[in-house]
Amino acid sequence: MMIGIDLGTTNSLTAFFDKSSQKPQLIPNRYGDYLTPSAVTVLEDGSLAIGKVAKERKFSHPDRTVTSFKRYMGSNKSFKLGAHNFTAPELSSLVLKSLLDDAQEFLGSRPTEVVITVPAYFSDLQRQATKTAAQLSGLKQVRLLNEPTAAALAYSIQDKEEELKLIVLDLGGGTFDVSIIEKFEGVMEIHASGGDNFLGGEDFTELLKDKISQGLSTKFWQDKEKDNKLATHAERIKKQLTQKDHISQSIVIGGKEHDISISRSEFEELCRELLERMRVPILRALRDAKLNPNEMNYVVLVGGATRMPIIKKTVGAMFGQFPLIKIDPDTVVAHGAAVQSMLLSDNRGYEDRILTDVCPYTLGVEIAEQSNSGHHVDVGIFAPIIERNQPIPISREEDFRPTSKVSTKLDLNIYQGESRYVKDNVFIGKIVVPISKKPADDEQVRVRFTYDVSGILEVEVTLVSTGDVIRKVLQKENNSLSDEEIRQRFIELANLKIHPRESAENLFVSSRMERIYEESLGDVRIYLSQMMTQFRQVLDSQDAKAIQMVRENIVAELDQLDQDYF
Ligand code: AMP
Repeated sequence: MMIGIDLGTTNSLTAFFDKSSQKPQLIPNRYGDYLTPSAVTVLEDGSLAIGKVAKERKFSHPDRTVTSFKRYMGSNKSFKLGAHNFTAPELSSLVLKSLLDDAQEFLGSRPTEVVITVPAYFSDLQRQATKTAAQLSGLKQVRLLNEPTAAALAYSIQDKEEELKLIVLDLGGGTFDVSIIEKFEGVMEIHASGGDNFLGGEDFTELLKDKISQGLSTKFWQDKEKDNKLATHAERIKKQLTQKDHISQSIVIGGKEHDISISRSEFEELCRELLERMRVPILRALRDAKLNPNEMNYVVLVGGATRMPIIKKTVGAMFGQFPLIKIDPDTVVAHGAAVQSMLLSDNRGYEDRILTDVCPYTLGVEIAEQSNSGHHVDVGIFAPIIERNQPIPISREEDFRPTSKVSTKLDLNIYQGESRYVKDNVFIGKIVVPISKKPADDEQVRVRFTYDVSGILEVEVTLVSTGDVIRKVLQKENNSLSDEEIRQRFIELANLKIHPRESAENLFVSSRMERIYEESLGDVRIYLSQMMTQFRQVLDSQDAKAIQMVRENIVAELDQLDQDYF
């Protein structure tokens, strides 16, 4: 059976297409939740736990827990967890395995084929890393699908008009992604993509945290631990403001109670600047696609942070229409992945051509510029060669003149980004051109960039007078694993001790009680102490039925406490 997986930075989800209802259906994990935190922790006995136990331990055991590793897919970063070292694809494979175990339990058979979603801007390298993660988790067949296309599929856009245009706005925890999709003669293509890698729900939390902090008698910014606690409260209050017009409550930090009162309109007033920043990549993507906001047939919202009423309001005003929000923005991508799995198994050759259709960033080189007067030279200037959102494959050539005489070699730095200054763009590689004979006085350097359908950039530099040429393929310098290495690592990972399912649940409840104990005071603490003792006693009894009963009661109490106090 084929299923869809949204392998997210914060949370991951799985879904399958239910033939009887003709709808995608989410698959619950072992705890009955649809969202599995993309988190891995190593326990005191050396075994690993994945998902919400790991997320809960992020607070109590930050050194033994990793999250947000999706950001490092395609890099060589290594994460130390106790005695183990893992790469991002390896950690992702542990999450995938946990999702597959849960899907097997729910569906009755283990899925061997999956559709995994990836951000539209993922490079070939990051896509390859995702495929490696799938192989390491034991999957035989994996198809990658772009997240914005998945969002469109979730709303059955493949069955709507032959030709249409839609924009997908994905505001997650730390990033904002914008994609314009056009459906033309039945094929969906990304027409433009963009975003802001430094804008997300966390920025809204940060603003709220600062606001709350201003109203407190004690300031926490020098005490990292207390400041983090304040951020956790701010995050919770932010979510509550999505439901309520006004929040008034007391929070406990550092053993002291603090009263907080804030209205939704005060919060929204604070957010103005962030909302302005959101408009920038939206307008840029529209401009690149040569489209107006009112030409969009649909606006699709994705990502937990789009739940904030102010986002819907701002987007609605910008496009003159209500965005599609029927599907929970946290689950819309997983729904779409399940639709794609159905389309693939039905052999409805639906094509997702997005990833290879445009080059999402401007690519260029570092140059120096002589001022008009000729008196001084501006260095660190970015000279674009391939402009963003050009259809690919694409090949472009530019000539440059060195500002000083080149003698033995010429260095060329390559960047991606939109700023005029290289310091604000992303460095992606350097080419050194050795020079074989004396170059001409007015030497010309010809630089050709070729960006292919897999998102790989080849740079060719020619020194015109000498004919010296050098070619380099960029973004391919990763140490991607060979098939044999993957097989080896697969065996090693399969032999890791994973914390058993039943006791993982007990561990989660214990960690949660510890966390709430730390965050509370007085009577609540006494109550929690009693609960912790009772739980320890029942665990010692090893009576599975009794443990389950006590655990369920405790979870109900903790849910109530979390709702009342936190
Ligand atoms: P994601 O990466 O899509 O899971 O997005 C997570 C972000 O969405 C975090 O910044 C959350 O604080 C935010 N978020 C989730 N639910 C809500 C809500 N009900 N109201 C406001 N923000 C939310």
